[in-house]
Amino acid sequence: MNIANEELIGRVRTKIVATVGPACQAREMLRALAKAGVDVFRLNFSHGAYEDHSAVLDSIRAIEREEGVHLAVLQDLCGPKIRLGRLAGGTIACAYEDEFTLVAHSHDEEDPRRFSSTYHTLADDLEVGQNVLFADGTVAMVVIDRGPGWARLRTTLPGVLRSNQGINVPGGGLSVAALTEKDLADLDWTATHEVDYVGLSFVRHANDVIQLRSELEKRGSKARIIAKIEKPQALDNLHAIIAETDAVMVARGDLGVELDVTRVPAAQKFIIDACHHARVPVITATQMLNSMETSSRPTRAEASDVFNAVLDGTDAVMLSGETAIGAYPIEAVATMSRIATEAEELLFSRLKGGGVWTWSSPGALGAGNGLRVGKVAKAGLVRPVTESVVEAASAISRKLNARLMAVSTHSGRTALVLSKQRNAAPTLALAYDVETARAMGLFWGVTALLMPVLPEGVPVRAWVIDWCRERGLLASGDLVVGIRGSSPDDPTHNEIVVFQAD
Ligand code: ATP
Ligand code: MG
Ligand code: MG
Repeated sequence: MNIANEELIGRVRTKIVATVGPACQAREMLRALAKAGVDVFRLNFSHGAYEDHSAVLDSIRAIEREEGVHLAVLQDLCGPKIRLGRLAGGTIACAYEDEFTLVAHSHDEEDPRRFSSTYHTLADDLEVGQNVLFADGTVAMVVIDRGPGWARLRTTLPGVLRSNQGINVPGGGLSVAALTEKDLADLDWTATHEVDYVGLSFVRHANDVIQLRSELEKRGSKARIIAKIEKPQALDNLHAIIAETDAVMVARGDLGVELDVTRVPAAQKFIIDACHHARVPVITATQMLNSMETSSRPTRAEASDVFNAVLDGTDAVMLSGETAIGAYPIEAVATMSRIATEAEELLFSRLKGGGVWTWSSPGALGAGNGLRVGKVAKAGLVRPVTESVVEAASAISRKLNARLMAVSTHSGRTALVLSKQRNAAPTLALAYDVETARAMGLFWGVTALLMPVLPEGVPVRAWVIDWCRERGLLASGDLVVGIRGSSPDDPTHNEIVVFQAD
C-alpha cells in the first residue's frame, strides 16, 4: 500500500496486484486487502458486469480518500480469447473420460453435458483428435467426433469448469484482431472512469500496443498500458513491444498453454531481464499462490515461486483467483507480502557484496530473519592445489570451448570440485573403485566410469577418446581438457592435459 505514513514506508518493496472478484468486491473487504498490502487492484473485464466494476472502482477511490493512500487500478481487457459460455449451474465437474458436446450457441443451459463458447464457429474449426484446453490448461479434452455446429469432446485431464473460463486450442492459429468489439466497448467505459492502467491481452507485436494507445487517446484517457506477454510471438518481438508499452505482465496462465509449460520459467526470466534493462516495470502473474484459493497456507513450491520471482527482479507479483474467488483473500495477500519481504532481505544483502550465505534463526516467527550474504568462508575442506587446478582447467575448457572434461579421481573430490564449476562441457570421471563411481551419481554434470586396465603403453587419453567416439560423444577435432587428480601415493601431483580427438 502506497501510504504516506512513515510507519508503513519501507515495508515490503515488491508491489502486490490483486484481482477483484466475488470473494472480495465488498468495500470493507477491499479496504482489508489494501491494508494487508495490495498496491494495485485488477478488474478483469473477462468477468463481471460494468455495474460491478464501477461499484468496485468507487469503493477503491473512497478507500483512498478515507485512508489517505494511493491505490492503482488495472483494467484488464479480455482480448481475443475464446471463452466458455454460461454453464448450467455455473460449474461442471468433468471426470476422466466424461463426454461433452460443444455447440455454437447454447439453447439449453439446463443441460450440464453441453456447453458453448464465445467463438461461435469453434466447433466447426476443430478436428477429430485435436486437444482442447480449458482454464489455463487445468482441464483438457480431446475431440472424438464432430458435425456441423457441434463437436463431441472426451475429458483427458479431469477438473472443474466454470462459466466464462478460457479455452485454448494449441496450434489453432486463430488470427483475430488484438482489440475485439468488446474491448473497444470496454474502452468507452475506460474513458469515463478513473483507471490507471489498461492491460492488453495476447499482444503479438508492438503495433498492438500502438493501436491501443491511439484508441485511448481518441477517448481522452490518460491510462497507461500494460502489455501482457502470453504468446510465443510476443517473446519474439519482446524488445519492440517493451519500447512501446508502459509496463509488462508475465501472463503465465495463457503463456503456459501457448508455450510448453517447461519453457515458462525461462520465458519469465527473459521477460523480467529485458524489462529491467529497459527500465520498464514488470508484473509476474498467475498461480503464484494457487492453492490458497482453498487453503489458508501456500505449498512450499508456491512460496518458492514468489521468492524466486522477487530474486529474478520482478517489480510486482499478482494474485488472480486467490483474491477473486478464493476462500482466503486476506491471508493470500499477507502471505505474499511476507514471502516478498524474505526475498528482499536476501536481495539487499546480495547487493552489498558477494560471499557465502548465512542463516540467522529468529527468536519468534516472522519475516526477515532468514538468509543473508556473509563473509566469504574459506573452502576449508578442499586443498588449495585441487581448487586451483580445477579452476585453471575450467578456464581453459571455456576458452577453448572444449567438448568434454575428463578427470581421474581417487576419492571423487576432484570431480566434485570440478562439478561445482558448472562448466558447459560435461565431465567424464574415471574412478578407481565402484563405490566412488556410484557416489558420483549425485555430482552435477559428472558421468562416472571405472578406470580401465590398459595394456602397457596405451595412454588413458587414447582410451577416453575411443570410448567417447564410439558413443558419438566426441567428433574428430573436438577438444578435451583432462585433469589428473592427485593420488594417495603422490598427494601433491596434479596435471592438466589438453588433447584433441583424431
Ligand atoms: P485471464 O486470462 O485474463 O487471466 P482468467 O479467467 O484466468 O482470465 P483470472 O483473473 O486470472 O481470470 O482469475 C480469476 C478467477 O476467478 C477465474 O477462475 C475466474 O473464473 C474467477 N472469477 C469469477 N468471477 C470473477 C470476476 N468478477 N472477476 C475476476 N475473476 C472472476
Ligand atoms: Mg486474459
Ligand atoms: Mg488468468
